[in-house]
Amino acid sequence: MSTVTGRCFCGSVQFKVDAPEKFACYCYCNSCQRAAGAPLVAWATYPRASFEVTVGKIHWHRSSPGVTRGICRECGSSITYANEKRAGEIDITLNCLDDPTGPTLKAHIWTEDKQPWTKICDDLPVYEKNIG
Ligand SMILES: [Zn+2]
Ligand SMILES: [Zn+2]
Repeated sequence: MSTVTGRCFCGSVQFKVDAPEKFACYCYCNSCQRAAGAPLVAWATYPRASFEVTVGKIHWHRSSPGVTRGICRECGSSITYANEKRAGEIDITLNCLDDPTGPTLKAHIWTEDKQPWTKICDDLPVYEKNIG
């Protein structure tokens, strides 16, 4: 059984995931850019049932219709993303994991929102919007 652990910047929120990731990608969408204050966010997708907050409480923020982003209310870290269209899944920011090198990144998505000064320097598939 693989257990992945992680936390927000300040450590008020800590969590664990008891399953390997189903997918991982870089997202350049405007929402991620603003939520993280960064040019892109690397996400890993896990089965929702495998995710558990072990310390503190996530603040759930309705960021767009059907979408809820989980942040730390103390430090503002972007921790999770949940979409009603994928109710059985939860996305976790790779960089809140204790070992961000664990998941294998497989694609670049929402590159239509990408800033012109953000360069993609690998051979992974690139999607202007979401996959599929
Ligand atoms: Zn925090
Ligand atoms: Zn995004």
